[in-house]
Amino acid sequence: MAAFPMSDGLAAGHASVGGASLRIAGITPFSTVDWPGKLACVAFLAGCPWRCPYCQNFILQSADAGTLGADALFDLLEQRRGLLDGVVFSGGEPLAQPGVVEAARQAKEMGFEVGLHTCGAYPERLREILPQLSWVGLDVKAPWDAYDRVTLARGSGALARESLEILLDAGVSLETRTTWHPALLSADDIARIGADLAERGVRSWAVQAYRSMGTDGSLADVTVYPSDMPEGAAELFERFEFRRA
Ligand code: SF4
Repeated sequence: MAAFPMSDGLAAGHASVGGASLRIAGITPFSTVDWPGKLACVAFLAGCPWRCPYCQNFILQSADAGTLGADALFDLLEQRRGLLDGVVFSGGEPLAQPGVVEAARQAKEMGFEVGLHTCGAYPERLREILPQLSWVGLDVKAPWDAYDRVTLARGSGALARESLEILLDAGVSLETRTTWHPALLSADDIARIGADLAERGVRSWAVQAYRSMGTDGSLADVTVYPSDMPEGAAELFERFEFRRA
């Protein structure tokens, strides 16, 4: 999940462009960090069914946070043809909006690569959008049997695991990410997550230390450090990164 920007300078407009109906809370016109190795714009779609206490974009959990329409994104893409590698649909949870599938198709048709940040709450919509995707950043929030502790949503682990299986079966370029707050995940939980992902064939894992910025402040402002990582967990992956921001 990327930090959501304010959308200064972007006027509210038509929700629907060519059949792609979106509620967008903000757009980052240029980003080098939201899709590793690519220059992309990021559209932050409003709405999420889960309620992770560490959510850095918690104001996007409500679908009402989307004051921009699809035209804001496509106007920007029109101006940035040849200047951007692609567009990342982020949130909130972008797959909460059915229109994201058509929006991704249109963006790809315009010549942009399409990336997705997702928590995995909508495996069926993930199947629908998959043919458009070049890269996915998937949150893996907890060991599968402990997911509800983090998402506060019953049955969330099964949905996220199904989404991961879909992505692995498709062979799409994938980065998995785990946000670590010590009150929600122990070092043993982190070890279990890493072992499970590696066993499934995941090659890229990032552990992101909790940051209070942008959250609702319900968690104690404590964090973790690279030295807290369980021994050997990082070495299970071709690419591993411990992120502090
Ligand atoms: S899945 Fe959790 S962290 Fe991601 S947007 Fe929803 S509530 Fe926030």
